[in-house]
Amino acid sequence: MNYNKKTVRDVDVSGKKVLLRCDFNVPQDKETGEITSDKRIVAALPTIRYLLDNNAAVIACSHLGKPKNGPDPKLSLAPVAKRLGELLGREVLFAADVVGEDAQAKAAALKPGQILLLENTRFEKGETKNDPELAKAMASMAELYVSDAFGAVHRAHASTAGVAAYLPAVSGFLIQKELEFLGGAIADPKRPLVAILGGSKVSSKIGVINNLLEIADTIIIGGGMAYTFAAAQGGKVGGSLLEADWMDYSREMIEKAKAKGVKLLLPVDTVCADAFAPDAKSQVVKAGEIPDGWQGLDIGPETVKLYCDAVADAGTVIWNGPMGVFEFPAFAKGTEAVAEALSRTSAITIIGGGDSAAAVEQLGYADKMTHISTGGGASLEFLEGKELPGVACLLDK
Ligand code: ADP
Ligand code: MG
Repeated sequence: MNYNKKTVRDVDVSGKKVLLRCDFNVPQDKETGEITSDKRIVAALPTIRYLLDNNAAVIACSHLGKPKNGPDPKLSLAPVAKRLGELLGREVLFAADVVGEDAQAKAAALKPGQILLLENTRFEKGETKNDPELAKAMASMAELYVSDAFGAVHRAHASTAGVAAYLPAVSGFLIQKELEFLGGAIADPKRPLVAILGGSKVSSKIGVINNLLEIADTIIIGGGMAYTFAAAQGGKVGGSLLEADWMDYSREMIEKAKAKGVKLLLPVDTVCADAFAPDAKSQVVKAGEIPDGWQGLDIGPETVKLYCDAVADAGTVIWNGPMGVFEFPAFAKGTEAVAEALSRTSAITIIGGGDSAAAVEQLGYADKMTHISTGGGASLEFLEGKELPGVACLLDK
């Protein structure tokens, strides 16, 4: 997959109507509908400002939530238009539909330097089906398509990929940054490349493990998935998270790493608890020696040392998946120690995955990382080496 894509800087936007796909899928209060975090709106500002400052007329669009049967007032983008207007310090026009009369009329009347936000793209049933008629109708309102919705690039929907069949398509600054760092780390990493993989299950990370085994110099395994690896080697894992169906796979991965000369590090000790609870009783035991009635919730102190040493002289570190149940402070130590070690290396540090990003933020290390991916699902598919429809549809440089 080619990650070298044209950006808004590579085309002339002046005087053009630009259809801009944003990720305005913001969290909202269930009762009041109030936006509880405007992070995604803030993240979209640089591209929006660039387009407006360079004399484009911006027709912004996004999905919000998962409307089941067409328009649902609870999932209207109207509150986003209001918040965006406050952040931009200028009027944001709002269309009551996506490609209906209101959208068409307002898009047609839009002047350079003005911005219009269309209603929730998923109010149109054709959106998630990537219906060419819908894509064509959206494209007909503009002369250029800019995608900046990294969180949605793994989906082939009308507004994330379909429209690119009818308009020249380039990336905004958010996607550009994701491609630069995630793409760079995968296509041409500064070595040694160390991949830290954790999280809950082996089964949800198969694609990531498979792909990173091909490109990494060292793979570090932590989190819940480590217990399936431990059990696969004959260890006792007590009541830890175990995916018995994936033990053969884990053994194969250990063999494959050996054959390829990839260093595969597994925990040597573990912090186990007598219950899955924040205030559970805990003890440190050797990996593979977890007593019955106990479950592993974090990597142990010896493992922390081993893993921190392994990242010390890395060129690039890709981290996906917390080392333990970081949501419980008593079991966040392993994740925190790794975050701290990453903050000290001179390596390019890249965090992918929704919970991993949340962990790094919660623990206060966000500004110490080179890049924290903004797309949970999209960044995983990226690390799996999959072709992302919302990226593939953009013009190559
Ligand atoms: P990401 O979203 O970054 O890809 P995952 O969704 O794979 O990460 O995993 C995150 C979850 O894994 C966290 O909620 C964390 O509590 C859980 N987890 C980590 N270690 C363990 C463990 N030892 N036992 C159970 N759950 C774990
Ligand atoms: Mg997750």
